[in-house]
Amino acid sequence: MIPPLNVTDDAVRLLQQRLDTIQHITQTGDWEWSLEDNHLRWSRETCRIFGIEGECDHPTIESLLIRVHPKDRSQLIQALRQAKNGTPFDLKHRIERPDGHFCVVRSCGSVLMGTHSAPETVIGTVQDITRQEQQVISDQVINRIIAASLNPVSMEEIFSEILGIVFSIPWISIESKGAIFLNDPHNHCLSLASQIGLSDHLLTHCASIRHGTCLCGLAAETREVVFASQLDERHTVRFEGMHQHGHYCIPILLGDMLLGVLNLYVPDGHNRCPEEERVLTTVANTLASLIDRKRKEHQLELLARYDSLTGLPNWITFTQQIEQWIHSRPQPAPFAILFIDLDHFKAINDILGHKAGDALLELAAKRLQQCLRKEDFLGRKSGDEFVAGIRIDTSDRARVVAQKIVTEMSYPFNLEGREGRIGASIGIAMVPHDGVQVEALIKKADTAMYYAKKQGKNGFAFFSDEMQSFAIKHQRLAALLQRCVPTMEGFEVYYQPQVNIESGELVGVEALLRWNRPDNQERVPPDLFITIAEEANLMISIGEWVLRESCRQAARWKAMGFPTLRLGVNCSPKQFRDPHFPDTVQRVLEETLINPRNLELEITETAIEGREEEQLADGIRRIAEKHIAIALDDFGTGQSSLKRLRTLPIRTLKIDKSFINGFLSAEEDCAIVTGTVGLALNLGKVVIAEGVESETQRKALLELGCDELQGFYFSPAVNAAELEKLLLQNLFIIHHARLKDSLTHHQAHGWHARDLINDLF
Ligand code: C2E
Ligand code: CA
Ligand code: CA
Repeated sequence: MIPPLNVTDDAVRLLQQRLDTIQHITQTGDWEWSLEDNHLRWSRETCRIFGIEGECDHPTIESLLIRVHPKDRSQLIQALRQAKNGTPFDLKHRIERPDGHFCVVRSCGSVLMGTHSAPETVIGTVQDITRQEQQVISDQVINRIIAASLNPVSMEEIFSEILGIVFSIPWISIESKGAIFLNDPHNHCLSLASQIGLSDHLLTHCASIRHGTCLCGLAAETREVVFASQLDERHTVRFEGMHQHGHYCIPILLGDMLLGVLNLYVPDGHNRCPEEERVLTTVANTLASLIDRKRKEHQLELLARYDSLTGLPNWITFTQQIEQWIHSRPQPAPFAILFIDLDHFKAINDILGHKAGDALLELAAKRLQQCLRKEDFLGRKSGDEFVAGIRIDTSDRARVVAQKIVTEMSYPFNLEGREGRIGASIGIAMVPHDGVQVEALIKKADTAMYYAKKQGKNGFAFFSDEMQSFAIKHQRLAALLQRCVPTMEGFEVYYQPQVNIESGELVGVEALLRWNRPDNQERVPPDLFITIAEEANLMISIGEWVLRESCRQAARWKAMGFPTLRLGVNCSPKQFRDPHFPDTVQRVLEETLINPRNLELEITETAIEGREEEQLADGIRRIAEKHIAIALDDFGTGQSSLKRLRTLPIRTLKIDKSFINGFLSAEEDCAIVTGTVGLALNLGKVVIAEGVESETQRKALLELGCDELQGFYFSPAVNAAELEKLLLQNLFIIHHARLKDSLTHHQAHGWHARDLINDLF
């Protein structure tokens, strides 16, 4: 129960007590300023708010004003002046307490008129609204920081905006000086990301701060707020002329992870204030989520725009850049687009493994970059394909750069101690000469690259319209092939003899496919249509047809009474990888009654060298188990290991014709041929030299110990009817040889040669 009021001393005391309590609860004090004697009366709560309890007895308006924050003082003076004239006021301002802290108050004042209607007293209230204000302002600050963080500008710019926002907090007692550091966990240091007001000295001293060093380093190491009211012994960064100051160093933490440190200056002697610290910690937390988000965005951006292996711009980024170059104003400068494809990369990847393949791509990217200038633009398209935009200042810069790349790429790469050799084929499209449409230009460069590859790799080619028509022709051919393969329309098997190098006796034939396009009867080069058929996955059915067709033909020859020949049939690696292939071969042999020992399936050396060719090796083994011979075709063009040669059941090595071609003139080819023949003989393999075109070649190969030859010197591939003529000739050779043998025999036994000839014919 509240006691009834009596106007007694006790009652006044009680009333005063009650008023004090209410003021304390509501954090609202009152004051009364007598205009007559300038005397000021403060309530106890007002004194508390101003933080000056001891001096409460004789305050003056000046002693009040002196506590008001200098920046707010004039508006309060103005308000008091107006109050004297009868205008009440209601305003917010800051108070500077003797302990150095600020608080925010709402001050209201009104005038009381005296007996002569003259202003006599100004009475007012002062309410401590620091808490509410802090909450409102920190909310505002956080909102502003979040808004700033959404700006599409760099993180550094956002940081500096955030520092500005922090400095604008009215009640925070900091100097407008500070910095944001980012953590570098690998090097255990902080690096300066943004700052406001730091002197040049500081910029150099604080560019990088080790964890544990100076106040920021301490905050980084302890992950706790470090406060200093002055330059103490922990502040190890010192230089001459450094002014006295203190700091708040607040770790920027995301959970347990240190992302950086927020560093703010406070005036010398400043007291640590929990309110300030709370708001600054909230700022640091907001910074943490901002940094985290920006980093994730950055990573996504990197993923989206850059190739993760080489760090080069990816395809999208590259085309965007080229698009920009094309549309640059006022006039686009001429440039070239280089389409760069690494030669033999697949072999490295297969033989040395994916890790080595990746390492090679990284090194190749670096080498490519070194061939270019700063203003050029290099990107990775996919796999072993790179693209480059080259600024053209001299007419032959594209040529010079392309040549440089080809040369650089031909040097071996060191892949963790192992040597990897590749090359590069480059296609070049010139802008604006070859067009101004990105897609079309890159397609043209690609077409030119394809052409360079076809020309024997490790070179470059400028795009030309002929290439375009070649590419179109290629596409048309692919479509035509698709249509013809189901019925094998226009296909015919030719046979090229393989003869004993010594006697010239025909010991085998290689089935070689021919295709006359049904639309114009033109003969398409086998290398061309077979490549297209490989690309179009048609080789399994084509291969099966060739096998059946040639076995049938061999059966016919057998039926005609010709001596049995070995039949060589080329097979695509895809066939060997096909698990049904051995059964297919078996079926064909059974159908045609061909002895498996008379069939030899050829596979190119490059097809077997891969590490992941176990499936293919397995196919080869399953074929060999059926007593069918295997020949390694185009031997010398690949990089097959000795181990492979030993472990795979290979009967024959066919030395590639490119080496035979140069073997009497080029030292390198000679070494390859000599080495191969020696190796084959050591491994107990049959050696066939392909592409033998002259007697000199035959003789030299014979001397080396080669077993058989195949080449125009004896006969090109011919159709079945032509081959029959050769078979007849062969009969003569066989008989001639036998005749020679018998002659020696008969001579030894005193018989007459004529009897023998009669015997034979
Ligand atoms: P290949 O298996 O290396 O066949 C040997 C090639 O060398 C044949 O080319 C043949 O005509 C040619 N040749 C033979 N002797 C000489 C010579 O003295 N000098 C020169 N310059 N060349 C000679 P062709 O018939 O054009 O076949 C090219 C390639 O097409 C073959 O190379 C083979 O890889 C592929 N091919 C042909 N028929 C088939 C087939 O039925 N299946 C598969 N998978 N590939 C085939
Ligand atoms: Ca062959
Ligand atoms: Ca060959």
